Amino acid sequence: MSTYIDINLVKYVCSCGKKQPFCRLYLCRHCSELRCVDCVQHEGDSHYCSHCLENMPSAEAKMRKNRCSRCLDCPACGNTLMTRATNLMVTTPDANKASTPTTPKKMYYLACGFCRWTTRDVAIPDQTVASGGLPEQENEANKLIAPLLEHYHLLAQKEKTEKERKKYVKRRSHMYYAAEKDKYGLISVAMKKTSLASALTTHSLKEDEVKMVEPVAGTVTDFDALPASVYTEPLDVLTVTTMSQRLANCEFQPVSMLGLYPLRKHLLLRKSLRCKECEHNLIKPDYNPLSIKFKIQLNAINFVPDIRIQSPAVFMKNKETLVCLTVSNPSVYNMAVHLLPVEGAVDPLVTAKIDLPRQEIVIWKRDDAAIYDDTSQLQHEIRDDPSLVAFRKANKIGLYVRVTPFVDTGDVTVNFHVKHEYRNTTATIQSEVKEPPVVWLDHQVFVTVGKIQQ
Ligand SMILES: [Zn+2]
Ligand SMILES: [Zn+2]
Ligand SMILES: [Zn+2]
Ligand SMILES: [Zn+2]
Repeated sequence: MSTYIDINLVKYVCSCGKKQPFCRLYLCRHCSELRCVDCVQHEGDSHYCSHCLENMPSAEAKMRKNRCSRCLDCPACGNTLMTRATNLMVTTPDANKASTPTTPKKMYYLACGFCRWTTRDVAIPDQTVASGGLPEQENEANKLIAPLLEHYHLLAQKEKTEKERKKYVKRRSHMYYAAEKDKYGLISVAMKKTSLASALTTHSLKEDEVKMVEPVAGTVTDFDALPASVYTEPLDVLTVTTMSQRLANCEFQPVSMLGLYPLRKHLLLRKSLRCKECEHNLIKPDYNPLSIKFKIQLNAINFVPDIRIQSPAVFMKNKETLVCLTVSNPSVYNMAVHLLPVEGAVDPLVTAKIDLPRQEIVIWKRDDAAIYDDTSQLQHEIRDDPSLVAFRKANKIGLYVRVTPFVDTGDVTVNFHVKHEYRNTTATIQSEVKEPPVVWLDHQVFVTVGKIQQ
């Protein structure tokens, strides 16, 4: 039951050598190797807002600073803010009548449904429109950042021109020679096409514009002394923002609760994963953010037998303990599995010796209907050795292994190989009739079965 409680108890060794929990691994069906998040290529597919589900290309997302233009987050707790409507009585002066009639007017403000924070708490006036009416906070530093950005933009442009010029200088001698003989004006046309001429003119123009911006930043050597009230008056924690509230709005970092301001919601990224070896996709989600389906989904959990610890056991140094491991077959074919010892030097993580069942173990295929059927025919067909097999249920088998720790304290960790059959269903797409070819895959597994009893 390790997966639900602690996914780090059973770790599979990825093809890159890292030990990863089973649920974080992928199986590349083209290389027949395990891949983990660290050894695959991550590609951003689309940016989308998790609240309004609007998706946009990355260039647009970059322009909007990776924030949704419509949705706002609560600055106090981070929940999404909701728009609330109220009626405000407005007096409309009428010249013809003596009395001034009042008419109701719909006004909108934002409120958090979780922590009850509202824009009225920080004296933001109610808006006349339901969405998009909230003014942006004006950042003083923008005046400083804008010319800097412009300066670096010019520098980048100059560098690009410089590169173009170098390319041109290399060919110039040939160009001049040809230009002298350019009876038909073909060279000038060619020059225009390669935009060399235009690049040179822009270079001379921009030369004057690229001036170093005066540095305005400096080292702060002394700070103003704290006001005396800090030492004398008790602090009201309800009026001061927490560190996470301040950092959520890192441009302004309000200290007082009155300085909080609704935050634009961060966009999320839908990404696909690609095997670095064969460049095939391992994970490819549907482009539409409304869809939770995947076009390609090669999680190891769907192909590789899942090993878990059935129940905790008590361990003592040099004492053999019976441990029950469960092995589940996720595939739709019966699977033969071998548990094999690791040859060679003992891994520094390993703290116990393990005795594994020697024979081949066949695990029934996954059949979703069989879970509800206890009197399955299949269960009676095989006679298991009761000293090795604890139980069999649908596509799961309980196996006894003998663990002998050789340390005094700490975790009891064992490692072994899992060799199992794998049917590559992609190979049979052309010929549906044939059974998919069987490949044997071998993975090394590290299992922390328990702790040494003190
Ligand atoms: Zn890896
Ligand atoms: Zn949104
Ligand atoms: Zn809130
Ligand atoms: Zn691959």
